[in-house]
Amino acid sequence: MDGWYVDDRCTNCDVARQFAPGLIGEADGKSVVLRPPADDAENRRLHAAVFACPTRSIRPLTGRADQSLNPFPMHLDDGVLICGHNSPHTAGANSYLLPRPSGTSMMIDTPR
Ligand code: SF4
Repeated sequence: MDGWYVDDRCTNCDVARQFAPGLIGEADGKSVVLRPPADDAENRRLHAAVFACPTRSIRPLTGRADQSLNPFPMHLDDGVLICGHNSPHTAGANSYLLPRPSGTSMMIDTPR
């Protein structure tokens, strides 16, 4: 696919497809880029997949991904944040940060 590819380190953990459905799909036991993003919203979704991928396998043909498009930590509902930067040491698990009213926070799973 023009512009982006998935390298052969992909472990088929599914994280990229969760963040960028329709842009990244599965073929032959790994992720593949189905098409380039068509607008800013899709570009943000693709870059969420790029910066969540535990093996950093989603790559632009031109070199490195634009670090300024790293969306993490990303706010979800009710103040919960998803950390991105998934770790290969947790099999690519998504990690979350939950701020508590007391001022402390709880992390569920750990990013890289
Ligand atoms: S997040 Fe990375 S390792 Fe996981 S399926 Fe997508 S490209 Fe492969």
